[in-house]
Formats: sequence, structure tokens, C-alpha cells
Amino acid sequence: MNILLIGPPGAGKGTQGERLAERLGIAHLATGDLLRAEVDQGSPIGEEVAGLMSRGELVPDEVIIRLIMPRVIAAAADGGYLLDGFPRSVDQATEARKLAESGGAAPDAVIYLDAPRDELVRRILARAEIEGRADDNPDTVRTRLKVFDDATRPLIDHYRERGLLHVIDAAQDEDAVTDAILAVLADIDRN
Ligand code: ADP
Repeated sequence: MNILLIGPPGAGKGTQGERLAERLGIAHLATGDLLRAEVDQGSPIGEEVAGLMSRGELVPDEVIIRLIMPRVIAAAADGGYLLDGFPRSVDQATEARKLAESGGAAPDAVIYLDAPRDELVRRILARAEIEGRADDNPDTVRTRLKVFDDATRPLIDHYRERGLLHVIDAAQDEDAVTDAILAVLADIDRN
């Protein structure tokens, strides 16, 4: 099964993505993690994206597509993927769809993790104390939330129109969110 996990920063994409991929036996592909690994290695891609990421802005579409699509297509051919953090705009979705269809890797379901803004900010600032991610500070969080509203939120209607969207209340505790997603996916599998 091929699944997209979308949602604002702080909604729990990373936590849920890891758990779901393990439970479902599919590959967990997280674009933020892949980009951070490039930055840590000091690769050419890492050097190109470090500044954008630390400001909370999106990296260029061609960079993210070049990084993620070969992995998406390979995972789809090998049991499926749980994709966390991509696409993040309708343009990215459109481009990915073109590449995925030729590789048989289109998504079967899109899970949207929805939570109120004050809860998102609270979680990110709590995570900042534990993980020390460079982009988990109040200024950058504001930018990331605005980028979500401007660029990513339109994907909700995009996928709803295609009959792929499932909205999950991500303000619940972690286990309840995982259970809710698994229930939705089991339902899809039966139909
Ligand atoms: P979050 O969803 O909490 O903001 P991520 O780890 O998913 O965190 O992403 C961190 C950063 O990586 C983003 O702010 C952005 O700079 C970059 N990024 C991740 N995925 C994409 C994408 N699909 N397109 C462009 N930039 C991306």
C-alpha cells in the first residue's frame, strides 16, 4: 500500500510515519529526515538547502523531486511506502504524479493530520528542548506554519476531489492517532 501523510509542522507526521510504516511493513520515507542527512553530510544538496531549511522555507521542487522520487518508485515496487513531508504543494503533487504513474507508484490513500494551531506550536517548542532541531524556534515555526497554509493546505482539497483524503484528529494522544489511521486504512483495504 502507498500512503501519503500530510499535515502542518507539529501534527506528528514523523512519529506516526515511523509507527505506521513498521506496523504495515512498508518503507518510511521522510523528506525532512533525508534533507537533514544531506545537510549533516555537507553534500552539494545539503549546502544548497541548509539556509532555506533553517528559515523554514521550502527547498526547490526539482531538488526534492530528484531526492525523493527514485526512492518512492523503488519502495512502491517493493511492498509500498509511507511518505511523510512530500508533496508539500499542488505543483509537487502534480509533478510526482506524472513520475509515479509511469512507475506504478501513485498513492492509495492520503492521511491528513489535523490539529489546532496552539497545540502545534506547543508541541514544536516542547520538541525543541529535546531534539534541538535548528528550525524548531518561534520565528521559524511561524514561517513553517505560514508555508503550510499558503503552499500545502491547498493539497487537502486537491486530494479530497480525487477521493483519496482521510482527515484524522491529530490532537488526540499518539496511540489514539495511530489506531484511528490504522482503522481508516483497514477499511480501505477491505473495499
Ligand atoms: P515539519 O513538517 O515539522 O516542518 P520536516 O522535517 O517535514 O518538518 O521538514 C523540514 C524542512 O525540510 C521544511 O521546513 C523544508 O525546508 C524542507 N522540506 C521537507 N520536505 C519538503 C518538500 N516536500 N518540499 C520542499 N521542502 C521540504
